[in-house]
Parts: sequence; structure tokens; C-alpha cells
Amino acid sequence: MAGAGTRNGKQPSVTFHGAAQTVTGSMHIVMHRGETILLDCGIFHGRRDEARKRNSTFPFDPSTISAVVLSHAHIDHSGNLPTLVRQGFRGRVFSTPATMSLCRVMLKDSAYIQERDAEYVTKKHRKKGLPPVTPLYTQEDVEATLPLFSAIPYSTPFDVTEHVRARFEDAGHILGSASVSLTLQGSSAPIHLAFTGDLGRPGLPILRDPVFIGDWDPIDYLICESTYGGRRHAPVAEMQDQLLDPFRRACERGGKIVIPAFSVGRTQELVYCFHQLIQDGKIEEIPMFVDSPLSVNVTDVFRRHPECFDRETWELIQASEDGDAFGFKRLRYIRNVEESKELNERKGPFVVIAASGMCEAGRVVHHLAHAVSDPRAMVMIVGYQADHTLGKKLVVKEPTLSIFGEPHDLRAEVVVLNSFSAHADRTELAEYVRKFSPAAMRGISLVHGDPDQARVLETALRSMGFRSVQIPARGDRVELNGR
Ligand SMILES: [Zn+2]
Repeated sequence: MAGAGTRNGKQPSVTFHGAAQTVTGSMHIVMHRGETILLDCGIFHGRRDEARKRNSTFPFDPSTISAVVLSHAHIDHSGNLPTLVRQGFRGRVFSTPATMSLCRVMLKDSAYIQERDAEYVTKKHRKKGLPPVTPLYTQEDVEATLPLFSAIPYSTPFDVTEHVRARFEDAGHILGSASVSLTLQGSSAPIHLAFTGDLGRPGLPILRDPVFIGDWDPIDYLICESTYGGRRHAPVAEMQDQLLDPFRRACERGGKIVIPAFSVGRTQELVYCFHQLIQDGKIEEIPMFVDSPLSVNVTDVFRRHPECFDRETWELIQASEDGDAFGFKRLRYIRNVEESKELNERKGPFVVIAASGMCEAGRVVHHLAHAVSDPRAMVMIVGYQADHTLGKKLVVKEPTLSIFGEPHDLRAEVVVLNSFSAHADRTELAEYVRKFSPAAMRGISLVHGDPDQARVLETALRSMGFRSVQIPARGDRVELNGR
């Protein structure tokens, strides 16, 4: 991808500073005519010490960044913006309107977590005579970040800087998610660079299908996600059907169903699927609870952004009694802790959806502590579970689980549903990239994927005729050449 003889630093370029051969900390820099544009500014998740170091130290001076273009609100794409501002960034942050609304809720929640985390470590340090630690960022940093946002609707070109124009198209991944097209002007011929962001799947509930980012101009360079570049998901159409049998089984034995789910996206998808199953008369209506203050806030954001919904969601809204896709008669949203605790004593059958998605923190851990040893209960796993998490221990059905330091025998039924994924799989990614012209495409960089996943996609794309495909390491720079 690098052009020979043009390494004078003035050549337009992309440098990959995060989500390079891994799936978190999305952060890429585009340089063009002295302007520096940051694509995404995500939190890096990993071991505590390494994560702290990576997130608090940028490999560039934040005050030199001209503007940020944000693909979507997931915290591994947006979550380090307040640190950028804390360290001197004063430019604008461009996102879609729904991403801006989600960031308002999620960055505040993230600051709360950073503050609690710092308190916890400081307490431990005190016992060892070590100095206190400061949070990565605070509520004040979030308050300083939010006014920098500019909301730009899909399919509407806008100026990021003097020489760079951009456009968002729906990536169909979460509410407000976007693929980005950048046009670098002022060279002899403009250079068209596209960034997929995280790509969704055709047919996902609530959201419209991903819109191809290359329809307006022939794309010269592509930055493409590869999270599941080597994996096949069960079809989206099976989402609702997969819920049916286990749901009925747990209801028959009067068990409670605990579903750990991330607050953004998965929780709303589940509510939507249950709503539709009830509407279609396929399941009986039992009490259901969404027990997470963040999920409640995020669901409110969903309601305020119907411009992102697909046709089926509009039909469900029209068919439902109170015109709400995310509400039905026996569904309750819980904010306060007392109501959450009452669920511990409640007799089944009922459903409780709670965060966090990998069962590492949040109210779901309390629900699991009260459910895992009850043979009538069911734990439904609907999301990716990383190694060493409580969620993973449930997936592999460890006979004894440690929850809050106490041993619990696993007697509840654990059901793992694999059709719930908001990321395109191997086939869907290849089908998306197939739409670009191999003749026009001068280089593809695969990001946001572990190397084993990215390599499978790399091979597939080469066999489709794309000659220059690479998997950049962190810090790698690629020069962009005009025609
Ligand atoms: Zn995402």
C-alpha cells in the first residue's frame, strides 16, 4: 500500500493506533495536508495495568488532532474521548445523531465506572502504603466532551476539515452505527478512503441492513473490520426460534430465566424478540424485567431515534397497543436497587435481563447468585463470553462457580444461543467487500480482529481478486496515493 519514493511525511497516510490485530481500542489517524483526523477513540480492554497505561497515554499529542470522526457509540470505539479532551483536544467530534445521544449516556456511565475503579484501587493501595490513583477520566471530562459533538445524519456529506469531506452510511451494527467515507481533496485527484466501522448483519432486529459505503465513489483504500472474519454465525432468522424451546421448558417447570446482556443493543434486541413472539401468539406473556439503569437509559435513547428503525420495527410499533417496540404489558424496567432485590425472592416463571453481558459485574451477578443452584432456573447465554469470565464458566458448565467469593453448585440449566451477534460473519463480510471494485481498490487494511480471524478473511479477499490486503500491527502506517 505504501508508495515508493514518497516517504516525506507529506503524503496522505493512515496510521493504526488501536484495534490492530485485536478487537478493542479502535483508533486510526488519517493525515492529509497538515490536517490530522482521528477515526474513533476507543477504550482498550485488557489486563488492568496494561489497559490503564494504553488508555492514559496516546501515541500522539491530542492537541494536534484537527477533528474526530466517530463510527459508533460502543465504548471500545468512543470511550476514550474524554481522555483525549482531558489531554488537550479542542476540535469537533462528528457522529450521527443517535451516536451522539448514546455517547451522552454511555460516557457518563463509563466515567462512573472509572471513578469507582480508581476508588477501589486507591483503597487497596492505601493498605500497602502506595499512593492513590486518579480515575482515567471523570464526569467533568465527559461534560467538557459532549459540547464538542456535531451530529450529521446518514448520507449527508460534510466537511471534517478544510481538505477532507466525509459521509456516514448506516452500518447496521448498533443504533446510530456508521461506515465512513472520507474524500481527501487538494491532491491532483481526490483520494477516497472508506472505513467500515463495525459492520452489522442483514436482517438484524430493529436496525436497517448495512448500507454499502462505496456506492457514491470508487473507493481507493478500505479499512475493514474482521471480528468474525473466520467464523460463521447461525442465521439471523433463527434468533426468535432459538428462544422458543428453552423459554417454554423453563416456564413449564416454573423457573426463572436469567439473561445476561450488554445494555446497548443486545438488551433491546431481546426485548424486541420477546415482544414479537408475544404479538405473534407464539409464547405466553409472563412477567419480564430489564434490570439495569444503563439499559433503561439506553432504551430511552432508542425510542428517541426511530429514524434508525427498519420496516419490521415500524410494523411492530403500529401493531402494538401503546405504540412502543420496547414495551409491552408485563415488561417492567427497573432502575432502583430495592426493586432489583425483590426479584431475588420472586417465584418463577419470569425473565430477567440484566448487565453486564459477561457476568463480571452489575446486577446480573446478584441474580445469578440466587439462580444457579436452583434446578428449575435457566441461564440463557446470548453473547460472546471471554475466557476467565463468570459467563464463560457458565458456558462450559463448571460444576462449582465462585460468585462474590462464595462457592455455588451449578444446578440450573444453561442454554447457549449463538444466533445473536451484531457483527457480520465471514460470509457477510466477504459479500460486503465483494461490492467494491478490485480494479479501483489500491489497498485493504483489516482491523478489529484477532489475527486468526483476520487471516481467514485476508485469504478470502485475495481469492476475490483484491491484490493488496494486509493486517496492520499497532503503529503501522500506510501511505495513500492518488491516481
Ligand atoms: Zn461495535
